[in-house]
Amino acid sequence: MERFEGSFTQQEPIPEAGIAAALAVLRHGRLHRYNTAGDEVAEAALLEEEFAAFTGARYCLAVASGGYAMGCALRALGVGQGVPVLTNAFTLAPVPGAIAAVGGQPVFVEVTEDLILDFADLEAKARATGSRVLLLSHMRGHVCDMDALMALCARLGVAVIEDCAHTMGAEWRGVPSGRHGLIGCYSTQTYKHMNSGEGGFCITDDAEMAARMILLSGSYMLYARHRAAPPPEVFEAIRLEVPNVSGRMDNLRAAILRPQIAMLADRRARWAALYRGMEAGLAGVPGLRLIPRPEEEAYMGSSFQFLLPDWEEPRIVAFLAGCVARGVELKWFGAGDPVAFTSRYVHWRYAGEQSCPQTDRVLRGLVDMRLPLTFSEADVAQIARIVRAEALRIGQAETVEAVAAPQVQ
Ligand SMILES: *Cc1c(COP(=O)(O)O)cnc(C)c1O
Repeated sequence: MERFEGSFTQQEPIPEAGIAAALAVLRHGRLHRYNTAGDEVAEAALLEEEFAAFTGARYCLAVASGGYAMGCALRALGVGQGVPVLTNAFTLAPVPGAIAAVGGQPVFVEVTEDLILDFADLEAKARATGSRVLLLSHMRGHVCDMDALMALCARLGVAVIEDCAHTMGAEWRGVPSGRHGLIGCYSTQTYKHMNSGEGGFCITDDAEMAARMILLSGSYMLYARHRAAPPPEVFEAIRLEVPNVSGRMDNLRAAILRPQIAMLADRRARWAALYRGMEAGLAGVPGLRLIPRPEEEAYMGSSFQFLLPDWEEPRIVAFLAGCVARGVELKWFGAGDPVAFTSRYVHWRYAGEQSCPQTDRVLRGLVDMRLPLTFSEADVAQIARIVRAEALRIGQAETVEAVAAPQVQ
């Protein structure tokens, strides 16, 4: 019986160009973005300019994390104590955490079995709570119909902040993810699409939002050193009323990131090959539902999800145990207790008790795996064979008791 021996959490190394640039920063020692010599332009400022160009946004701010980026965007929009903020019921903990960080009240919106926002529930909850802000999480890279969403939000008077932690380099109808809403937020944490350990971006075309976010991030009166930024007069009007909530990007991480922007297109193509390999390998397994990918979407296939709809819990547990015994670590969003990165809205008690029965049903059967670029297409084919075999073995057993974990030699 075959067993997968690879690691689901091993990312690729930092490219040599990033290592060389990082060493140069370490050698001169000017790691703080405003510590520049003469007319030197900081790595962080260059990174912002290059990421703005990559997305087509007018303005870009590099920050300390994706979570910080979202909090900064919310604060720039004026979200404060008790303000309701709509967000996906299926997302990761930093998203409601960013809302809570500014004192806001997360309002969870149902997702569909395609893992995207349910527009009817969005409209109902926007009306019921009077919320004027949606923090839209493109969770696991599944993008909803952005044209329809933006039309709906315009009608509702709801501003959209996009959480693009899983969609850096992705597109909807040719428009980069993060460019539909008022502000796009990204993460450059190790498990995302560019790796600086920790880090993030905010992008926008709105001059006042950009100036507010730059001031918030901790620019003191040095904002004129930013390049992907509005002109000084936009800052002058607000510079004494925006608090400094430090969360800057430093030059070391910026140096590591700059060469990775040009690699995103190639990474997208390689991830797509892995993703399609997994999709093909799992097609047609009875009781296993794949998530459809709309044609309008160009996605970053850095992770893979499928549903075991309405499987009873012990059967899912036996399936996961069968896979892990064969080296395939899957994550399950239906577990009663949160594990590692995987928690659900019911676990975020500070948000208050909320009920999203449709999402509960989806998450009960939702299985998730990473597809790091260190996997080969042969690795993916092997993982798919194992998942397929275990899904068939456990899914078709008459009783769960009949299927013990397999013996692996
Ligand atoms: C990772 C992640 C974030 C936040 O990124 P950090 O850089 O870790 O703060 C936000 N949203 C989602 C969906 C994420 O997975």
